[in-house]
Amino acid sequence: MTKIGETERKLLDASLRGFRNAYVLWGFKVGAAVFAEDGQVYEGCNVESWISGLGTCAERNAVNHAVLHGNRKIKEIAVVMDADSRSEPRPCGACLQYISDFSTNPQVKIVMAKAEKEKILSKTVNIRKLEELFPFPYKK
Ligand SMILES: [Zn+2]
Repeated sequence: MTKIGETERKLLDASLRGFRNAYVLWGFKVGAAVFAEDGQVYEGCNVESWISGLGTCAERNAVNHAVLHGNRKIKEIAVVMDADSRSEPRPCGACLQYISDFSTNPQVKIVMAKAEKEKILSKTVNIRKLEELFPFPYKK
């Protein structure tokens, strides 16, 4: 089990709030939360559409939520996925690029976990650095 600090706990709690509001039509529920440069936490959830590719991931919605409140830098991000989903809880490639776009530090922590019955499954908590998951981001 990964040891987590106060920021990670806050982010996982906020991710769970987002998770509850996930709008899922054919995928699975995901919640995310960003610890932004203003010291606040901004949550997000995935929002799907019947048109494939039109929906948005929870991570990008959490980043957009932070940007909406004037933040341009991510200090840390968490993502929580439904325990029923078969995939490992981690951001998709598009979200990793987006996280990178809004990070100045490749050491930004990405906290990942699964949730079941509205609770974080602590044994699934995994923390990685952005550069570990996404070593070659696209930069202009
Ligand atoms: Zn994604």
